[in-house]
Amino acid sequence: MAIMAEKRDYYEILGVKKNASKDEIKKAYRKLAMQYHPDRNQGNPQAEEKFKEATEAYEILSDPDKRRNYDQFGHAGVNASGFGGANFGGAAFRDFQDIFGDFNDIFDHFFGGAGGRSRRSRSRVQRGDDLRYDMEISLLEAYDGIDKQIEVPRQTLCDNCSGSGCAPGYSPETCTQCGGVGQVSMSQGFFSISRPCNRCGGTGQSIKHPCVQCHGSGRVMTRRKVNIKIPRGTMTGLKLKVQGEGEPGYHGGPPGDLYIVLSVAPHPIFQRDGDDVLCEIPISFTQAALGAEIPVPTLNGKVNMKVPAGTQTGKAFRLSGKGMPNLRGYGQGDQLVRVMVETPTRLTTRQRELLEEFAQISGENSHPQSKSFLDKVKEVFGG
Ligand SMILES: [Zn+2]
Ligand SMILES: [Zn+2]
Repeated sequence: MAIMAEKRDYYEILGVKKNASKDEIKKAYRKLAMQYHPDRNQGNPQAEEKFKEATEAYEILSDPDKRRNYDQFGHAGVNASGFGGANFGGAAFRDFQDIFGDFNDIFDHFFGGAGGRSRRSRSRVQRGDDLRYDMEISLLEAYDGIDKQIEVPRQTLCDNCSGSGCAPGYSPETCTQCGGVGQVSMSQGFFSISRPCNRCGGTGQSIKHPCVQCHGSGRVMTRRKVNIKIPRGTMTGLKLKVQGEGEPGYHGGPPGDLYIVLSVAPHPIFQRDGDDVLCEIPISFTQAALGAEIPVPTLNGKVNMKVPAGTQTGKAFRLSGKGMPNLRGYGQGDQLVRVMVETPTRLTTRQRELLEEFAQISGENSHPQSKSFLDKVKEVFGG
């Protein structure tokens, strides 16, 4: 048979009188919780016991119903579960927010991702964050490749305090709430929850005499000029990495990197298809019928293109090597020119006469597509 340890009186544990107010109870618990906080007593099981004991006492005495039961029947009246998982949403848990400050999103944090991104390392040397800069360039810029200077808004270490955040002559002190760790953690049974310390914002340091320029953050926002080289053949989605141009590191850590994410703006004439470009060129029906040499714009100036006699609308011609340069240096794409035959409008009397005469003398043979279509109609419907 297991021997149950004699349970201590809850009022005694918290060191308050039987008629203590809610506030007195909370204050007493806060004091004990700070003193026996597992984070400040690592490797000390007695402190952990005391912490759990105080929390259990607080859980009961802070709840009017439970407190009444306890007053009447003692431990038997409340059947406290202590730190069991069943009481995860209990009064003590809710009051963590009052007691330890910024526990607002404790559930998000807890259920969101097994600890999320630990900020514990903030108190040690840590690399700065990467930055992303979105940039749009024109198709012609992507064709030629260009050097550009951009201005990137980002943090830099404050030059007044060299990033320490302290006024000249002072240095940061260890945060008293988290003991310099940068985060506080709570244990509930087998759950352990860690949050960045709200007093020091996770830095583990407290600054009593902040620098006037950066107000203690050690960082100021600036616009950094960065020179970049946009390669020939750049495609939408291309990422350029500029090493060391991200946010500055923490506690002497290296800076992050800057990523420039490029997109190529749509062009009014050229449509890109990989390394090829497509364009549509209107030609007159006489040019299409008689053949012609027409000027065609390319990414590299105008060229003349031969349209043979009898060209149908929609036909595409390939101008070899007139497309985009390949990003990886594998040659150059082609330009595809699709000709669109235009039907003339607003005819003069003379033009009309000529066309009517043309129609009269034209047999089926001059319109190959109509002829083959009519043949199909005959096949399907007979006659
Ligand atoms: Zn702290
Ligand atoms: Zn400063």
